[in-house]
Amino acid sequence: MNSSNYYKIEGNKLVRTHRSCPKCGPSFFLANHFDRWSCGSCGYTVFKRKGAPKPKTTRRTPRKRQKA
Ligand SMILES: [Zn+2]
Repeated sequence: MNSSNYYKIEGNKLVRTHRSCPKCGPSFFLANHFDRWSCGSCGYTVFKRKGAPKPKTTRRTPRKRQKA
């Protein structure tokens, strides 16, 4: 695997596109999955969270019928 996949050049800056494993060290990168990052070495997994997390309990409010 080409290690340059883990970086991209933006202007004159080197930007990391992959996260590194906090357990294994900065030289171990997490594999990018569609919903998570995972380390192939120790199994460390970080779930991606887009936007606000879903509320644990969703209480449905009963629909009020509008009087005609
Ligand atoms: Zn690891």
